Amino acid sequence: MAELSVTFPDGSVKSFDQGVTSEDIAKSISISLAKKAVAAKVDGVLVDILEPITHDATVEIVTKDSKDGLTVARNTAAVLLKLVLKQTYPEIHFGEARADEDGFFVDTDKADGQVSADELDGLESKMAKLVQAKLAVEHVTLSTADALSQVAGDPYSTELVNDVVDDKVSFVKINDELILQDGPQLQTTGDLKQFKLLSVAGAYWLGKSSNPMLQRIYGTAFYKKADLDEDLKQREEARERDHRVIGNQLDLFFVDPKVGAGLAYWMPDGATIRRTLERYIIDKEVTHGYQHVYTPVLANLDLYKTSGHWDHYREDMFPPMDMGDGELLELRPMNCPSHIQIFNHHIRSYRELPLRIAELGMMHRYEKSGALSGLQRVREMTLNDGHTFVTPDQIQEEFTKILKLMVEVYSDFDINDYTFRLSYRDPKNTEKYFDDDEMWNKAQSMLKGAMDDLHLDYVEAEGEAAFYGPKLDVQTKTAMGNEETLSTIQLDFMLPERFDLTYIGSDGQEHRPVMIHRGVISTMERFVAYLIEMYKGAFPTWLAPHQVRIIPVSEEKHGNYAEGLRKEFAAAGVRVDVDTRGEKMGYLIRDAQTHKVPYTVVVGEDEVNNNTVSVRRYGEQETKTETKPEFLAEVLDDIASYSRN
Ligand code: ATP
Ligand code: ZN
Repeated sequence: MAELSVTFPDGSVKSFDQGVTSEDIAKSISISLAKKAVAAKVDGVLVDILEPITHDATVEIVTKDSKDGLTVARNTAAVLLKLVLKQTYPEIHFGEARADEDGFFVDTDKADGQVSADELDGLESKMAKLVQAKLAVEHVTLSTADALSQVAGDPYSTELVNDVVDDKVSFVKINDELILQDGPQLQTTGDLKQFKLLSVAGAYWLGKSSNPMLQRIYGTAFYKKADLDEDLKQREEARERDHRVIGNQLDLFFVDPKVGAGLAYWMPDGATIRRTLERYIIDKEVTHGYQHVYTPVLANLDLYKTSGHWDHYREDMFPPMDMGDGELLELRPMNCPSHIQIFNHHIRSYRELPLRIAELGMMHRYEKSGALSGLQRVREMTLNDGHTFVTPDQIQEEFTKILKLMVEVYSDFDINDYTFRLSYRDPKNTEKYFDDDEMWNKAQSMLKGAMDDLHLDYVEAEGEAAFYGPKLDVQTKTAMGNEETLSTIQLDFMLPERFDLTYIGSDGQEHRPVMIHRGVISTMERFVAYLIEMYKGAFPTWLAPHQVRIIPVSEEKHGNYAEGLRKEFAAAGVRVDVDTRGEKMGYLIRDAQTHKVPYTVVVGEDEVNNNTVSVRRYGEQETKTETKPEFLAEVLDDIASYSRN
């Protein structure tokens, strides 16, 4: 029999017979490897462990304890789910189905109402029966014609089959049932040890919002019970932090796709948090030398042609509004061109630089519907934006100032879990970037110098710069584990060119400024989402929508005293309310805790007689009795405490 040579990841090479399987190869290495092996990567492609190898190749045995190993179990779990769905609903249609980083999913469509979350337990039990039966999982390859007749009547599967180019359509056969599915599989259903169906959610066919909405069923699978348990625990913790869940519980905001996907409505309590943030950041920036402005969200499309957004960023922009008389108005996707108008409105002297223009600027971006997520990724957002216009020599000093501002702000919010990423141009591919070698080299070394001077840790990312200049991003993690950019500082050599920006230098000549784009607390939307998750909804007192809740033991007897306290505290600047619903005391106290109100104050006979309050702090068990002035001083001190971090 002809031989072929197999190269292993460590570079060693071995000969095998033509048609050898990865299972044979694993066995030839060691029994223990063969036991753990569930698939192989042949020339980088993940394949079934029983697939014959017919040519010289690199082979990496995939074991159960690897990420790719999990994919195999999840592929089989997806097939079993399809199988039980087909048994339960013979007329069901299947869209995409596959393993992913989080587990697996199967998209479904049913004429008489979609599969609901209530059905998951039942489906899971049916899957478990197939697992117990230890049925063989076989691969079958059909021609396109045979595959089409196999999936006849299912428009989505038909489209998937038609997309296969080489006339070899992969199916999996279990118990004589054929299920359309590619990717490596476990050898028997009995090998699927640990799995769980998790949830259902709408998902557009192929992720396009113009397509029909299918029902996506999510699940996950592992080889060990401990791994599944750990994963479920993490999901539960993430769910408890999820800003969409908390936002709903605390009635902070909502998004209604029927009214507009990615367009947020801020309820009064959410709006209070946002307003507090807006006031905070404007005050902070004004103190740091920024001049706050207001500029329109709409501008003539020509502005975005000049800026280059129309050429390079069009996919993320809303289509222009045709006003009928030849005028095209565009919703801005960024505020930079607006701030350039402010710069350009006067002749600028070097004495005015650095000129710092800032705005809570509303912008619109047509984000893909699949990417939208609560307040984290929206289509209408208000950015804590700022643009500094500097001379090339001022870059480092200004960059340092912005960094210091960021670190100060982070400390006010007690944000500690973040990393800095410094992005440079790709030195091997410089033609992709704005063409000014000297400027790039100088600017990159200035940014690095500033970070080093401040003794800040950072990672350097070559090739991650914007094409118009190097940048620094501050990366954080969402509850769901996704990395997000919270703050950013970006140098820009290009927009000053495109808009022909100049300032008059000390030599009386015109010079080109450099622009620095910077966002400190990101968009109000993303920042509030981030804070909700970080604080798990228990906002520090200065940000909490309700800082003090007063509960009279009896509205009739103690209501006046409560109202007097409310007036006094409110006049001192405290966000305070009296719960006059007259429900049972225990219920009202629990309700204040559920709403994560920092101070719950109960007033009854003793308090009225002694001019005191009974106070319980959020998260604490015991109640303290204090005099009214003591308590008020404590709350005011707490509200002011963020700036002392
Ligand atoms: P991303 O990579 O997250 O799409 P970006 O690099 O396009 O962001 P910038 O143009 O630098 O973002 O926008 C400034 C900041 O606005 C980002 O750092 C991010 O924090 C925030 N942001 C961007 N897009 C959105 C969005 N769709 N919803 C909410 N906030 C956003
Ligand atoms: Zn900008």
